[in-house]
Amino acid sequence: MKVLFDEPPFLEAKEIITKIQQFGYRAYFVGGCVRDLLLNKEIGDVDFATSATPQEIMGIFDHVIPVGVEHGTVIVRYKHRSYEITTFRKEGKYSDQRHPDNVKFITTIEEDLKRRDFTINALAMDQYGKIIDLFNGKNDIKHHLIRTVGDGKERFMEDPLRIIRALRFSSQIGFSIEEKTKRAMIKVKPQIEKISVERILVEFQKLFAGDEVDKAIRYFIHLKIYEHVPIFKDHPKLVECFPKKWIPLNSFGAVITLLNYIYPKVTITEWIKAWKCSNAIKNVAHHLAFALTYYNQNGIDEWLVYTLPPRLYKQFSDVVTILFPNDPLTEKTMFTISERLPIHGKKELAIDGNDLLNLFPKNKKGRWVGEYIRTLEKKVVFGQIENNKNVLKEWIRCHPPDIN
Ligand code: ATP
Ligand code: MG
Repeated sequence: MKVLFDEPPFLEAKEIITKIQQFGYRAYFVGGCVRDLLLNKEIGDVDFATSATPQEIMGIFDHVIPVGVEHGTVIVRYKHRSYEITTFRKEGKYSDQRHPDNVKFITTIEEDLKRRDFTINALAMDQYGKIIDLFNGKNDIKHHLIRTVGDGKERFMEDPLRIIRALRFSSQIGFSIEEKTKRAMIKVKPQIEKISVERILVEFQKLFAGDEVDKAIRYFIHLKIYEHVPIFKDHPKLVECFPKKWIPLNSFGAVITLLNYIYPKVTITEWIKAWKCSNAIKNVAHHLAFALTYYNQNGIDEWLVYTLPPRLYKQFSDVVTILFPNDPLTEKTMFTISERLPIHGKKELAIDGNDLLNLFPKNKKGRWVGEYIRTLEKKVVFGQIENNKNVLKEWIRCHPPDIN
């Protein structure tokens, strides 16, 4: 624990606190970084809370990005790293269940800690490692418990996203949800339907990527949280098809691919629309789903490895391993196959569309060119023809394209 605190990113981050103090303000490490430091876990982002306003922070540091000034948040670039610095604040009512109606800047860290979701996230720490722990967060860390700050029902009503966040943290750090907190989650869970799907997605992405995803999924099912989550709420049978054992999936595109496979009634396009996924997620899901269909018919082979972008090997092998635990696949296997491939893309093929048109001058340009090239790629990838211009030409002459 001590070691980590004396290492980057804390090493530089302590200087930020000192600098803010030199200008007469207070500043602390807050949130996940304090929790993860106490847990001896790898630190994600280092976040700060301060009595200085965003304007004042802009006066102290040279490189400040005003990402959410109205909520009190700026990003400071310091020694090649980015830090989120948020002014001590109090939140008004969340009447739309999306954003607090108003944010009020305050002067004490104590008030700021009260608005935080769970005791384990409501710890502040100064640059010497001294911790402010108003809600026994340290004790909950010791006992691996997720417990709301204050009355659970009230806090979940105020922002029902916290219900999903509880599951997300159980996945990321493997903690159990304290009994009273759990009961409050069950009472308030219908309110989840009022939150924007964009906020839900952020939490679910982290949930499915967590080391203890199985634990979070058990809560998801046993507390019947799924009854209030997009798509799941209209297809309660979906969770019955869940795999026995999950492994962390780092892309939501992989999650959608898996869910569509176990429950084809909901298409990938429906998932993407209902969960308002980005084009990047959509792209991953379509690639993986295509590969999975192929895998189902042919197993793992050169063509699958060739057609799937290597950046998706990990995602694909994880999905396959979850779906077919008796026949696990590793990304290493895929890379080994890939290294042995004679070509890694159309560009490496010794023949291109123009060569093909020159060989058959009477044929008009058309779809047949692309399709024929694809056939050649496949033959080459499977080692059935050598990737050599003359050899390919000879083969083509013996197998003229059927353009009708
Ligand atoms: P991670 O390491 O995944 O970033 P984190 O604990 O930092 O975990 P964030 O979502 O980045 O989680 O939130 C930062 C901190 O802000 C939390 O630790 C918590 O104190 C507070 N917080 C964030 N969202 C909420 C919320 N909806 N309600 C109350 N407090 C919140
Ligand atoms: Mg964070």
